[in-house]
Amino acid sequence: MLIIENIKILRSGDWISSSVAIQGSRIIGVLCGEPRYFSKRENSFIRICSETGVVCLKKRGLYRKVSRLATLDESMEEVKILDGEGGYLIPGMFDPHVHVREPGQEYKEDWHSCSKAALKGGVTSILDMPNNKPPVVSKKELFKKIRIAGKKSYVNYGFHFALTDCNLEEIFSEEVQRNICGVKVYLDKTTGGLLVKDERVLINVFVQPRPVLIHTGGTAGLEKILYCYDSAFKKYSSISPLYICHISLKDELRLLEKARKNYKDIFCEVTPHHLFLESNTYRGLPSVKPPLSKKEDIEALWEAIERGLIDTIGSDHAPHTVDEKKLPSPPAGFPGLETTIPVIYSAALEELIGFDVLFRLTSFNSRKIFCKKLYSEINEGYPAEVVVLKDGDFTVTAGGIDGEKFETKAGWSPFQGFKLKVKPFITVVNENCFYLNGNYYRNRTRKVC
Ligand SMILES: [Zn+2]
Repeated sequence: MLIIENIKILRSGDWISSSVAIQGSRIIGVLCGEPRYFSKRENSFIRICSETGVVCLKKRGLYRKVSRLATLDESMEEVKILDGEGGYLIPGMFDPHVHVREPGQEYKEDWHSCSKAALKGGVTSILDMPNNKPPVVSKKELFKKIRIAGKKSYVNYGFHFALTDCNLEEIFSEEVQRNICGVKVYLDKTTGGLLVKDERVLINVFVQPRPVLIHTGGTAGLEKILYCYDSAFKKYSSISPLYICHISLKDELRLLEKARKNYKDIFCEVTPHHLFLESNTYRGLPSVKPPLSKKEDIEALWEAIERGLIDTIGSDHAPHTVDEKKLPSPPAGFPGLETTIPVIYSAALEELIGFDVLFRLTSFNSRKIFCKKLYSEINEGYPAEVVVLKDGDFTVTAGGIDGEKFETKAGWSPFQGFKLKVKPFITVVNENCFYLNGNYYRNRTRKVC
């Protein structure tokens, strides 16, 4: 049992004092208001941790039992208490778009460094992209990755499988379906071996049930996949959801808005770098795909968030070393696991975006799209994946945040120089796996789908 006390929780738009109780991988009690004591004797008192009756007995300085009021006499269990120091309790990010790089390019990142970066950054579940070396296009590569993640990951995890022109049968197999969160499709010419050309394959992939994630490579790719989705819709009685990765242009939003009038299962994602970094003014290490947008596109993205047209924020954490980034043709991608939550929640504190909107974009919507789980607030029954943010004035520096080094092997951030109003101080994945102010406690994590 883990109790986080002295925190603020969001209820009907207001932050109110609270404590939460966690057992295993679930929240089992939320108390709004100060902890209440209803029995206090020398060295012993009982504390209510939940309005529905989860209680905790403290005896000789040790918290012991947690149970329903009616079963107070049952055997005692040990309780850990974390002091939230008055911070904001938010849902841990369920990041649908991460490139862990292991197996194949461990010098850039591995499951250990990547998931530690996630935990430190307030990201509690990561869905890993399949463009490894070699890519995840068969059961063999998928199961290899599942084994590695199971041994090394500090956060919960899931996997996307790559579509090729000739592996649909494998994707339809029960073994693959049971172990993936989505099917990733690359329509960008530059992604080499993973570029899917066969239009029949692009239509038939929608017959398998997992969401189909698209790297469009721009408006032409988006038009192409919308056409294929429409063809599948007309041909088959039931089709999978379509998920557009890292949307970045006003023109893409226009196409998407039109398509969403006809289909309810089309979703889209935006990255923090496309929301906050402008192509004309960005001076950091180069190259990302899609490229950073112009001011008018960025304004359109923010407006789309306001109108509910964007479903998720994905970090698209794509680590490369500083040396690689200084090459004449640097590889594309920015690291983002340690900056996404602090950057976007700092924007919420400056009232650029609502906290409730961020809860949906960073967590609830991804859980709905990829795990079919519906949540609308942090309450009893919600996964134990929560974060406590602490207030302060922090700066993203060359190698970390306020001198605290990044965990990602990339070791740098495109947000260098950004001023932050908050950063994660506690991140919980489950009762026994959490980050607390610079210290990591790792225990068994799990596959989310
Ligand atoms: Zn990506």
